[in-house]
Amino acid sequence: MNPFTASIALAIVQFCSGLIMAGVFLSTPTERCTRYWALSGALAALAICLIVPIYAGGGGSWRPIGLMLGNTSLFASSIAAWSGLRCFYQRPARWWPWLLIAAYAVSFSALLALEASFTQRSYLAIGAMQLVFFLVLFEFRMGLSGPQAGRYARWSFGRWIGFASVTLLSAAYIARLALAPSHPELFEPPRMSDLGVALIYLIPLGGSLLFSAALLMLYFERLVADKQRLATEDELTHTLNRRELMRCGEQMLHDALARGHSLTLAFIDVDHFKQINDRFGHQVGDRVLAGIAAVLREHCRESDLLGRYGGEEFCAVFPGLTQLEADRIGERLVAAVREHAFDHGQAVTISAGLVVLQPGQVQNWDELVNRADIALYRAKSEGRNAFRMAQAA
Ligand code: GH3
Ligand code: MG
Ligand code: MG
Repeated sequence: MNPFTASIALAIVQFCSGLIMAGVFLSTPTERCTRYWALSGALAALAICLIVPIYAGGGGSWRPIGLMLGNTSLFASSIAAWSGLRCFYQRPARWWPWLLIAAYAVSFSALLALEASFTQRSYLAIGAMQLVFFLVLFEFRMGLSGPQAGRYARWSFGRWIGFASVTLLSAAYIARLALAPSHPELFEPPRMSDLGVALIYLIPLGGSLLFSAALLMLYFERLVADKQRLATEDELTHTLNRRELMRCGEQMLHDALARGHSLTLAFIDVDHFKQINDRFGHQVGDRVLAGIAAVLREHCRESDLLGRYGGEEFCAVFPGLTQLEADRIGERLVAAVREHAFDHGQAVTISAGLVVLQPGQVQNWDELVNRADIALYRAKSEGRNAFRMAQAA
């Protein structure tokens, strides 16, 4: 492939990724990250529009200004992509890299005025791009931090592709930097070698395509994770919502019956919760519910289920407990909430009804919930702040 054909291919790819980024932006106009990514796509497309005709022999007296604007746009495009990545990971965008763009434009103009060769000019581009690659790798490495980080898979496919694309781009630039001083003829138009075409056009073409794909993948992965969470999680307590609790609970019951294992279901209700709302307000009430959920979760294993059944009622499912262990967990849940220090300075208690499906026993989900509910009613009517075990079926 000669340099001209390669640069046309690069132009087409940059246009297409610019269009894709513009499409993503148009469908998510309030997202700051996609705004930057669309800007990045537009700048890259502009750069290619300016540079390709010049390397094809056009430009005339506008050649220096076209080269300067084209190369600066390419650098600005990468800065915009990096700023978008920072926004995506919920870190504030920085202003100083935009100054680097001005510095780049001035340096490039100075090199043109001094009639620096293609190879000498490319040192500036390589150095500047290495800095951006480093910044981008740093953002990928850091990922999302803060309390929201736990909501998303840390090492997703999109992140790996992002790492791979930037490493590939950086390696191509470093190889060019290493070879150019001793063999400048490999890279200088119009008689560029195949290695030069590969390092200047083909690998950057593949790398920038991969990088755009990685950004889209990251965005898509987050959308899917958010959709999944909204559909399955209770927003206030971050436990399972009722629909997901029933779906997972029925699945767990099905597995327990198939394997002949035991299954324990606990139905939990906060005592006199209405009084907490009435005395301290609904916001305190909400915080108490979230606090209770956190206490209950501490006493659940990874394999257990905990969900909010509705209002101030929770349901927990524990696979594989013996009768004795079920008694202990009932006691532990009630004691843990009773002893927890809530923000509003008052003790809060719960009552619980537990039912144990013994190995080999057959019952459906509704029957189990009903038996736990009856046991809970007994705990309430016999004084609250306690648990009761359901009578044998
Ligand atoms: P008992 O010991 O018999 O269970 O008494 P209780 O006051 O806990 O039960 P009751 O069913 O009378 O009251 C439940 C209250 O829970 C009424 C409702 O306003 C409140 N509630 C339900 N959902 C929420 C919520 O999401 N946030 C807040 N703050 N309150 C809620
Ligand atoms: Mg209730
Ligand atoms: Mg209650």
